[in-house]
Amino acid sequence: MTKILLGCIADDFTGATDLANTLVRAGMRVVQAIGVPDDALDVGLDADAVVVALKSRTIAPADAVTQSLAALAWLQRRGAQQIYFKYCSTFDSTPAGNIGPVTEALMAALGTDFTVAAPAFPDNQRTVFKGHLFVGDLLLNESGMQSHPLTPMRDANLVRVLQAQCRGKVGLIDYRSGAAGADAIGARIDQLRREGVRLAVVDTLSNDDLLHLGAALKGMPLVTAGSGLGVGLPANFGISPCADAGGLPAATGLQAAVSGSCSLATRRQVRSFIDAGRPALGIDPLRIACGIDVVAEALAWAETQLAQGPVLVYSTADPDAVKSVQGRLGVEAAGAMVECAMAAIARGLVLRGVRQLLVAGGETSGACVQSLNIRQLKIGPQIDPGVPWCHALTDVAGAPGLHLALKSGNFGSDDFFSKAFTMQR
Ligand code: ADP
Repeated sequence: MTKILLGCIADDFTGATDLANTLVRAGMRVVQAIGVPDDALDVGLDADAVVVALKSRTIAPADAVTQSLAALAWLQRRGAQQIYFKYCSTFDSTPAGNIGPVTEALMAALGTDFTVAAPAFPDNQRTVFKGHLFVGDLLLNESGMQSHPLTPMRDANLVRVLQAQCRGKVGLIDYRSGAAGADAIGARIDQLRREGVRLAVVDTLSNDDLLHLGAALKGMPLVTAGSGLGVGLPANFGISPCADAGGLPAATGLQAAVSGSCSLATRRQVRSFIDAGRPALGIDPLRIACGIDVVAEALAWAETQLAQGPVLVYSTADPDAVKSVQGRLGVEAAGAMVECAMAAIARGLVLRGVRQLLVAGGETSGACVQSLNIRQLKIGPQIDPGVPWCHALTDVAGAPGLHLALKSGNFGSDDFFSKAFTMQR
């Protein structure tokens, strides 16, 4: 069994794929594990990094700590030289907060007394200045994140946010150190350590800052960050960008997409696919609620179309339609019902020979991956920022492997579906 270099623990599913995609672009060969892997999981001979995808962002802190420590133990058994705790670039955490407790538990388990918190992702307009997180030109707490249903962020000062979640002292590596380069960051870390600081939020304004920071973090047992820092670490292991890092087995089989996302970008993508004259079938949640077997209907329809090229099955709808369905069925019940149907359709499509499957929607992706019994993904080439093609092992239909792309709602250009399938040819 080969040893991995970088071991990553991500607090949600599509965030894990985002980090994995960044690492591949920086030259690492990456496998994403779904949940804490068991010891039998074989990541192959050529993985430089493994990203363990948890769903720990909004669960109780004690459970998030337990799962993260289990992931750490697995990564340590595989020889990981550095651990990367990945969270969202908008620092999503509940008021009780999981980022602090998980970070401190990982520090204790690794026997380290210092780490950094670097959520910035400049390519995606997330920057940190004087400890304050900005989304574009707006402070985090004025960006819309203050009214997020699960993780409302009402303070943009991350030193304060993190301090409220931590026992150890929180400090700041400010923009002057970042701009001055890796040595200046190293000197600032030494100074903070002498002052008894255990965690330092890092000002980051650009990708250059992330590259300086990456170099300064060489050998640090634990780093915590959004996906942005992924550009700065592979060089510490002697790895540089190369096209081979995202190499996957050749794509075979039929092509299909399922979309349970109602986000704006996905709505445009569904419209674009239909306008291009491609076959697409809409699913009506109210018909599912009436007991009609829409899964069987969709699969019967798909069987007649698949041989001619890619098909799309979607529940994607405008906000008014979604609100109306939610009003009649309840928000959670409607969501769960549609996810369950889309997951069964994804499984049925694979049973009918689909080997290149696109899934739109974060929660929808989770449901589909579960129904396909997928435990790991090898990360391949990027389709659009944050969304790579992957190769997954599944035991459904005795398929040796499946090409899968999991797109979170607001990612991707309007022609994403067509572009992704064309790229596979
Ligand atoms: P996104 O990444 O865009 O947020 P998700 O898959 O995470 O997409 O979430 C979309 C949620 O909306 C899922 O729970 C899905 O089942 C639900 N949903 C999809 N289509 C409809 C619809 N037509 N009416 C009501 N809920 C829907």
